[in-house]
Amino acid sequence: MAVTLNPDREAVDAIREGLKRTGGYCPCRIARTPENKCICEEFRQQMNDPDFEGFCHCKLYYKSRG
Ligand code: SF4
Repeated sequence: MAVTLNPDREAVDAIREGLKRTGGYCPCRIARTPENKCICEEFRQQMNDPDFEGFCHCKLYYKSRG
C-alpha cells in the first residue's frame, strides 16, 4: 500500500488552500465534523481497504495497492 500526493500540482495547491481556509476540514464537504478533518474518516477506511485503489474524495491523495 502506498499513498502519494496527486501529481497535479495545481489541484494540490487548490486543495491545500481550501484546507487552510477551513482550518483542516475537508474542503469538499460542508460538515465541519471530526470525521471530516483531513485525513478524513472515509479515506482512512479506503487506506485500510486492501481492494481500494484511487483518489481520496478531494483528489489530494492517491492510494495504490502495490
Ligand atoms: S477527501 Fe482527501 S483532502 Fe479531503 S479530507 Fe479526505 S483525505 Fe483530506
